[in-house]
Amino acid sequence: MTIPSSPSGSSSVLPDPDAQAAARGTDDAGSAGNAGWLERYTGAVMNTFGTPGRVLVRGQGAHVWDADGKEYTDLLAGIAVNCLGHAHPAIVEAVSNQLNTLGHVSNFFTTPAQVRLAETLVSLTFPGLPAHESKVFLANSGTEANEAAFKIARRHGGSSRPRVLALQDAFHGRTMGALALTHKAAYREPFEPLPGGVEFIPAGDTDALRSALGPDVAALIIEPIQGEAGVRELPAGYLETARELTRQAGALLIIDEVQTGMGRSGAWMAHHLLAPGVVPDVVTLAKGLGGGIPIGAVIATGEAAALLGPGQHGTTFGGNPVACAAALAVIETIRSQDLLGRVDRLGSTWARELAAVDGVDQVRGRGLLIGVGLAEGLPPAGEIVAALAQRGFIVNAPRPDTIRLAPPFILSDDDARAFTAALSEVLSRAQSEKAGS
Ligand SMILES: *Cc1c(COP(=O)(O)O)cnc(C)c1O
Repeated sequence: MTIPSSPSGSSSVLPDPDAQAAARGTDDAGSAGNAGWLERYTGAVMNTFGTPGRVLVRGQGAHVWDADGKEYTDLLAGIAVNCLGHAHPAIVEAVSNQLNTLGHVSNFFTTPAQVRLAETLVSLTFPGLPAHESKVFLANSGTEANEAAFKIARRHGGSSRPRVLALQDAFHGRTMGALALTHKAAYREPFEPLPGGVEFIPAGDTDALRSALGPDVAALIIEPIQGEAGVRELPAGYLETARELTRQAGALLIIDEVQTGMGRSGAWMAHHLLAPGVVPDVVTLAKGLGGGIPIGAVIATGEAAALLGPGQHGTTFGGNPVACAAALAVIETIRSQDLLGRVDRLGSTWARELAAVDGVDQVRGRGLLIGVGLAEGLPPAGEIVAALAQRGFIVNAPRPDTIRLAPPFILSDDDARAFTAALSEVLSRAQSEKAGS
């Protein structure tokens, strides 16, 4: 299928001369535009992602520009990362100030930014608990946060609890430990043997959970909404049951909020919204936490908070003051601008509007993590994504029948509406092409 781009086009002229020069590639002889950079990309960068569709040179708010000067509304935000959009002044200022003051220390030292962030994350993650019961480990990414959580699970399990449970279709990252917790065979099999003892149970099936849990299980790890699996929610009550059963079995409950956390659902943590009474032992964060600066975190409470002792885990960059300053700026901005309220309101209005589009079968997710399920008979979601990019909208297809939206929290109502209109046009064109063929 080919869906022609809109006749008017949605590209715009870049406003500032530097960006224009960068876009034309005149800052770097021989690489004009997307095509030139992509050729150099394939020559120099390992082919782990396939060849990217575009070369982005600039971002402002919810908008980005590619090397040909075309403008896009960024509804993916670096996959749920740029929660305040691009070039947000609060992050720019916090990062610049910190870098001007003290950019990096080793873990032989701490910094005020690191301590403030750890305290803040404890209160955001476990608002109902006394702060002294919880502790934070700072890492640099989601996979590293889950790697640390896995090590906590092993410390809890010892030799008497060798099993760790994860859900089918789970995604927890790409390092060897996190990969062992990730379900997709194509990601795992080329790298076996992986750390052992991990078993996958059907997501949302409480009977399967009940029969899998026993005194030999160290931990259960769950994404409250399975993002990479296509924004799939767990059935109501599942997290509550998981908490009850893991507690009975003496296993830790680890909630992976890497994609769903930091306000994306409309609450600080998706599990706060989906299962308000549930207190996990361990929560992992990354993606939106630094608003674009790499940082991950593990927040653990009770016994789990004390399982990693001196020398048992570490990282050179984790807890870096620049990354911590970025995360503190993100949290402060979400708070002061009531962005949780914004995410909740825009997310629910938008989900209703998207569900009414002809060709949309189902809208899943919470807040601004939205999976748009396409009706049967439409072209694969990847083709719809390409047609939307032609019209100036960045989204992605985590599954062949689903388009994922994870835009910045500062997205305007007008940008959201413009996307709904573009989607409607693209889907109706796809349907009429199919009818005509
Ligand atoms: C993206 C993601 C990860 C991995 O995070 P990276 O920063 O890419 O390592 C882990 N868990 C979930 C739920 C994710 O969405």
